[in-house]
Amino acid sequence: DRLKESKVYMRALFDYIPLEDKATPCQEAGLPFKRGDIIQVVTQDDPTWWQAKRVGDSNLRAGLIPSKQFQESLMSQKLNAGLRRSFRLSRKDRQGSSGEGSDPGEPEFLTYEEVTRYQQRPNERPRLVVLIGSLGARINELKQRVIAENPHRYAVAVPHTTRPKKPHEKDGVEYHFVTKQQFDADVLNNKFIEHGEYKENQYGTSIEAIRSVQAKNKMCIVDVQPEALKRLRTSEFKPYVIFVKPRVPESRRRRKNSLIAFLQQDEDLQEMRQSAIQIDQQYGHLVDRVLIKEDSASACAELRGILERLERESFWVPLSWVR
Ligand code: 5GP
Repeated sequence: DRLKESKVYMRALFDYIPLEDKATPCQEAGLPFKRGDIIQVVTQDDPTWWQAKRVGDSNLRAGLIPSKQFQESLMSQKLNAGLRRSFRLSRKDRQGSSGEGSDPGEPEFLTYEEVTRYQQRPNERPRLVVLIGSLGARINELKQRVIAENPHRYAVAVPHTTRPKKPHEKDGVEYHFVTKQQFDADVLNNKFIEHGEYKENQYGTSIEAIRSVQAKNKMCIVDVQPEALKRLRTSEFKPYVIFVKPRVPESRRRRKNSLIAFLQQDEDLQEMRQSAIQIDQQYGHLVDRVLIKEDSASACAELRGILERLERESFWVPLSWVR
């Protein structure tokens, strides 16, 4: 029935270029799309080719796209035809960098995710806002600025730490101050969405800290390593994920700098670019919004605008979050 009314919407998790598709029965009838596009599936009558439109497209004619099942089989064929080695490698890398095993809940093939419009109602807990940033984005600073402007609406999740409390600090305000023993137990019990060490002290942000902000009806803003997304992507938190990328200039003119300084600068820019590309490849399909950061003030203004719309407007979320 839902199909007849064509109320089936999918978020594309891959790019589709019909003109490069050797499997399609008709390249001209294909509907091109990009990862992140929202697609209205008009019919799923054929198991291999769906008829679909892109949401927001003025073109009223439906086009052909590979069905989920078919796209999965294509991706699995590709994998078997020699890409297996690189696939294995990238999985190993991923495990190495996150320090955790791969998530069995994550689908092996990124094809489509069924989505629906969702608008937060006034009596519902505010959505979690997750900032991830590539090298040089300085998302913590961005988060702190936006919260400082509006502390009654937005808040950070108070982290835990094992470092000693300073005289002006209050337990539960700047940090939850805990013993090393307690901290280790919390890590084992999976209480943290992320944790790390700084100057031989442990720091971490707990799931409970997020819940307690939401319980006060404030919007909780966290900045995390992208690996944490898998844990946070639940119907409880309904995270809205913003990927902050610094604007990286194409190349810099050499001014008075020495050649060495010039080359070093170029290397830094290259690293920033690389970091953004890597996050985009690995986590881009989980991102709701990309924020290109020109400078601190404009990024802050843009983030503020996004947060305000988040409370007023409806957004696409996985269907599984609202069922
Ligand atoms: P401080 O001890 O001066 O308050 O914080 C020192 C550093 O601890 C911060 O600059 C930051 O790098 C780290 N830190 C603070 N909170 C957290 C947290 O929640 N998680 C992690 N991984 N590090 C944190």
